Amino acid sequence: MSVTRRDFLKYCTASAAALGISAAEVRALAKALLNGGGPTVLWLQGSSCSGCSVSFLNHVASTTPHDAADVLINVINLAYHPTLMAAAGDTAVAAAAAASLAPGHILVVEGGIPTAFAGNACWAWSENGADVTFQQAVTTHAQAAAAIVCVGQCSAYGGIPAAPPNPTAVQSVKQLTGLPTINVAGCPPHPDWMVWTIAKLVAGAQIPLDSFGRPTELYAKRVHDQCPRKEKDEEAESFGEHGGCLEELGCRGPWSQTKGNCPKVKFNDKANWCIGADAPCQGCTNPGFPGTEPFFHEEGEDGDD
Ligand code: SF4
Ligand code: SF4
Repeated sequence: MSVTRRDFLKYCTASAAALGISAAEVRALAKALLNGGGPTVLWLQGSSCSGCSVSFLNHVASTTPHDAADVLINVINLAYHPTLMAAAGDTAVAAAAAASLAPGHILVVEGGIPTAFAGNACWAWSENGADVTFQQAVTTHAQAAAAIVCVGQCSAYGGIPAAPPNPTAVQSVKQLTGLPTINVAGCPPHPDWMVWTIAKLVAGAQIPLDSFGRPTELYAKRVHDQCPRKEKDEEAESFGEHGGCLEELGCRGPWSQTKGNCPKVKFNDKANWCIGADAPCQGCTNPGFPGTEPFFHEEGEDGDD
């Protein structure tokens, strides 16, 4: 089912409190959407697993829009997305070029940027018979964008592709371009965090960022401080035990930069979240993720960023 801009607006109005969007921002959003539509979005995918796109597509709401593809295609002008767009070949490349000329367009980057081998570990597309590296594509398109949104750890900080020994010399968008980025942290980020960021940008709202480029509203509190298992005396001593605190098994929820409202928003249409499934938090919103520490610790071992 396809949604209209009015549907999207209705959704943002109904979910304003949950998404953290103020009444004034909803009014600005209404103005932007109903007077000609949302901005053009150019979404590039590089060194990644596409998990951020999958997470976005898992956005399911009980009211319209029911899925994120509808938001991107029918509400906002998603001009280019390698996995979602119907166009291919020269038509797709032309769409990316046209998008970067659209005034006020948003560049969304998913995935890190390999810079070894002159960037040839990852190609974005071919143009006039020549391969264009992802490094070239990001460098070019970042310059013209009104805002750059990094979805996920890889584009924001390097993430798993940049983990040692990083043979393809993966960099984040900010490392590569030196430009400011809005980092929607997570591996993958929660779909609501991506929708929230896009809604704020469409509304023309300011998005205050922390020192790691993350929106402070989304990454305000440590996971540990919101975890329902925090006050429990019970400690899980082995994997598969239900209900206990997982700190002794390597939970990174207490790490100082493991921030996000994951316990509240949960994943897969609010079905569950990492600790609710008895899996230690991996600290996936932490700029240092995945780090060099093992994900799981023997009892008594410790680690922090
Ligand atoms: S399970 Fe993790 S996040 Fe939850 S209270 Fe224990 S250490 Fe903190
Ligand atoms: S609980 Fe931890 S690993 Fe899970 S989404 Fe939140 S920050 Fe990431």
